[in-house]
Parts: sequence; C-alpha cells; structure tokens
Amino acid sequence: MKSATGICKYCHQLVALQITDGEDPTEEELNAYASQECNCKEGEIQRRRDFAIERVRKQIENYTANVKEAAAGEALIHLIPMIVEQQITKVTMKVGDAITYKISLDKDLNPIVERTETITDMVAG
Ligand SMILES: [Zn+2]
Repeated sequence: MKSATGICKYCHQLVALQITDGEDPTEEELNAYASQECNCKEGEIQRRRDFAIERVRKQIENYTANVKEAAAGEALIHLIPMIVEQQITKVTMKVGDAITYKISLDKDLNPIVERTETITDMVAG
C-alpha cells in the first residue's frame, strides 16, 4: 500500500487515500476515489444520488444486453442525467409491442427504472 491524496469534488478538501501496490491511478481517478471516500455532509445526498444513477445505469445495461433492445438501452442511459436534473419528469419507452421501459424518480429523487414485458398468448386459429 502507498499513500496518495485526492480532492473531494463535493467539499473540495484533500482526502488521504491508500493505493494498492501496482496500481497507478490518474489524478482524475484519485479525485473520484476521494469523492467516494470522503464523509463530508456536503456530499452525502449527492453521493447517494450518484450511487443510484450508477445502479440504474447497470440495471439498464443488463436489461438491454440483447441486440433487440440495445438502441433503447443507449438512449435510456443518455436520458438518466436529464431525469435526475428534473429537466424530464418521466420517460416511458416502448420496444416493439411488448416491452416497456419507465424511468422516473423516487421520493428521495433517486432514479428508478422499470421494465415490463407483456406476454401475449398466441391462440392457433
Ligand atoms: Zn468531501
């Protein structure tokens, strides 16, 4: 382990970090790491929100891993910041006839994504 410092992007203070041997993080990575590690009050809500954004982004990536939904996935990920900033209140996106994506904010203003797929019974005629 070696010592390094990064600057918390929320409170702009120096944060002491321990870096695993062999790793050589860039200044940008150190600052990102510092922003996660710092336990300042200023960053608390924002850290939780960033975590929620990351969680929703991963969820969308998992949902849209197949080719058919890949374009929708890219578009949805692009829209997350606009929803978090409340420039867009809610997004509903349909893929084909059966798949619907909804992104909205929960009561703590953290983004949430829902995917529903309607299964239609095919009756042979
Ligand atoms: Zn901080």
